Amino acid sequence: MHDKALVVFSGGQDSSTCLFWALKKFKEVHTITFTYGQKHVNETEAARKIAEIAGTDFHLVDISGIAAIGRNSLTDSSIEMDQEKPETGCPNTFVPGRNLFFLSIAAVYARELRIHDLVTGVSQTDFSGYPDCRDAFIRSLNVTLDLAMEEQFVIHTPLMWLDKARTWALADRLGVFDIIRNETLTCYNGVSGDGCGHCPACHLRNEGLEKYLSSKE
Ligand code: ZN
Repeated sequence: MHDKALVVFSGGQDSSTCLFWALKKFKEVHTITFTYGQKHVNETEAARKIAEIAGTDFHLVDISGIAAIGRNSLTDSSIEMDQEKPETGCPNTFVPGRNLFFLSIAAVYARELRIHDLVTGVSQTDFSGYPDCRDAFIRSLNVTLDLAMEEQFVIHTPLMWLDKARTWALADRLGVFDIIRNETLTCYNGVSGDGCGHCPACHLRNEGLEKYLSSKE
C-alpha cells in the first residue's frame, strides 16, 4: 500500500469514485476542492458531505477568477448550454484551463503536505471534446509539474480508459454504489443524485447507469 495521496475532488460521480478508489490504495488520503465560479454552490456542499462520509479532510480553494477570463456556460448563466458536441471545437460547457489550474494548484498543495501521488477523475473514453481530460495532456502536465517544482509527482487517472458503465461497476466493486448514486452531484443544473435528467452530464451518467444495471441482470 502506498503512503499518501491527494484527490482532486468535486463531489461528482467520477472524482467521488476516485476518492473511494484512493482510500483502498493509500494509507492516508486528502482532498482538494475548487470553486471556479460554477453556478451551483451545492456542488461544493455535496463534496463536503461526501468527504465527511469518506472520513477525509475537506480543503476548499477559490479560483473563481478564471470564470472572468474564459467564458463558458458552466460559469455564465447568460450563455445557453450546448446540449451536444458541436461539429468543430469544444462544447461551451468546457471551462478553459480548468484541469490545468486544478492539478497545478493541487500539486503545490500536495508538495506542502509532502504528497507525491495525485488522483484525478478525468476520462477520455466518454470524450466530450475536452482536451484537458486526455491522457496525453495529463502525462505532459505530470512532466511539467515535476520540472516546475523539482519533484516526482505521479498523477493517477483510474477512470481514464473506463466508460461511464464501467465507472459505475468500479463504484459497486468498491462497495460505494449507493453513496455514489445518491450523494454525488454531476448534473450541470445542480440537481444531486440522478440529476435533472436532461443536461449532457445527466445523459452521460444515466446512460452509463442503465447500461451497467442491465449488464447485471
Ligand atoms: Zn442534469
